[in-house]
Amino acid sequence: MKTSLPPLIFRVLFVVLVIGTTVSFVSGDAIKGTIASLLAVIILVVIELVQFSRWTRNPLSPPRMFTGLLYVPVNRLFMKVKNARGRSKNLVNASKTLRTQLKELPEAWIVIKSNGSITGTNDAAKNILDLPIKASGINLIEHWQDPRVETIIRSPVTDEIIEVSSPKDVNTQLEVRAHLFDDDHRLILVRDVTPLNRLLTTRQDFLANISHELRSPLTVIVGYLEALQDCATIQDTEEIVARLFSPVQRMRNLVEDLLTLTRLESSPRPSIYEMDNVNVAKIIETISSEIKELESFDHVIEMSIDDGAIAVGIQEEIYSAINNLIINAVRYTPGGEKITIRWLTVEDGYLFEVTDSGPGIAPEHLQHLTERFYRVDSPRNTKNGGTGLGLAIVKHILLRHESTLTITSTIGEGSTFGFKLPQARRST
Ligand code: ADP
Repeated sequence: MKTSLPPLIFRVLFVVLVIGTTVSFVSGDAIKGTIASLLAVIILVVIELVQFSRWTRNPLSPPRMFTGLLYVPVNRLFMKVKNARGRSKNLVNASKTLRTQLKELPEAWIVIKSNGSITGTNDAAKNILDLPIKASGINLIEHWQDPRVETIIRSPVTDEIIEVSSPKDVNTQLEVRAHLFDDDHRLILVRDVTPLNRLLTTRQDFLANISHELRSPLTVIVGYLEALQDCATIQDTEEIVARLFSPVQRMRNLVEDLLTLTRLESSPRPSIYEMDNVNVAKIIETISSEIKELESFDHVIEMSIDDGAIAVGIQEEIYSAINNLIINAVRYTPGGEKITIRWLTVEDGYLFEVTDSGPGIAPEHLQHLTERFYRVDSPRNTKNGGTGLGLAIVKHILLRHESTLTITSTIGEGSTFGFKLPQARRST
């Protein structure tokens, strides 16, 4: 704002002086002149006070009409009011932004009084705790009805953490943290830890399974090693060493399958540029001649193969998937029975299928077969050399090829395991 103060004051003094001098000169009396000057000053002061009083009604407008006597302090006041208003506007805007951001936080938060009454919350909390849209005033303790939540809310200790079931769904596990703001207010932070817990359980199960799988062959190996110490003849020794081969091979298979699975899970999906043309008919031929060499092989193999169907994928992975499925068919089909392998061009791609005439699998097991270490008949299946990881490996390989494993089975008749590779890949 412009400060035309000095000229204004000088103008006022000049007017007062002119009035006083004129009156003294006209009346020839200096006292009258002085009184006239004083009167002029009083009138000006009154005008100034009236203006000031008017200005105080709207102190945000600039003080323009002052004679100059009170201009400096009033203008200073005006500037302070103006600055304070600017600051409060900024504060209001900042608090609005903060409130919006807090409301949109993905983490659920609730501010409550020490008696449990809600004073503020966000949408995530309303959703996770099934609170109504207008949640203010609702008592969280009564809403949740869990003694542990009540204890943590009433506790004088800050940052306590508990894990409880959600009031909305008992299968959802929530981590609740109570932070003391002051004597009367608490901030409650709520986090859905169900997926994390599931992951931890899966990991623990996985580790328990690995330990279990390794323990059995290890026990056998230790037993044979102890027996070796007591061997009297070379023949006995050779016999035991020959027996050691099987559990060692089992451990080796397990470690190899684990490494394959870890590699498949941890490496990114291959792009089309990383894939090759894969001659699946050739792969099937190689695998079938390999399995015919197996001691346990005594099956009738039928094939229906489209030699011209060249897939696109990662050669070793497709080999491994087909190998696992064919070996399973042999493993779970009694000797002398038929196994049919198909590699066909179908309407929407290529289809690989292996059908066995084994015992079949009950429907309730089907969805679990690709889980790591899942076995339909555990004691029997561990004996026949399987690691329990074969179908998990197949599932991951197919995922990486944008395909899925299909399983159909009828108890007493047999099972068919198959997958498709998309048609589009044929032309590339
Ligand atoms: P495993 O090494 O035990 O064969 P897999 O992951 O390959 O492990 O298979 C998981 C389980 O699925 C097997 O233990 C078995 O119970 C069942 N299974 C797989 N293939 C067949 C099949 N062709 N016929 C019957 N059951 C099968």
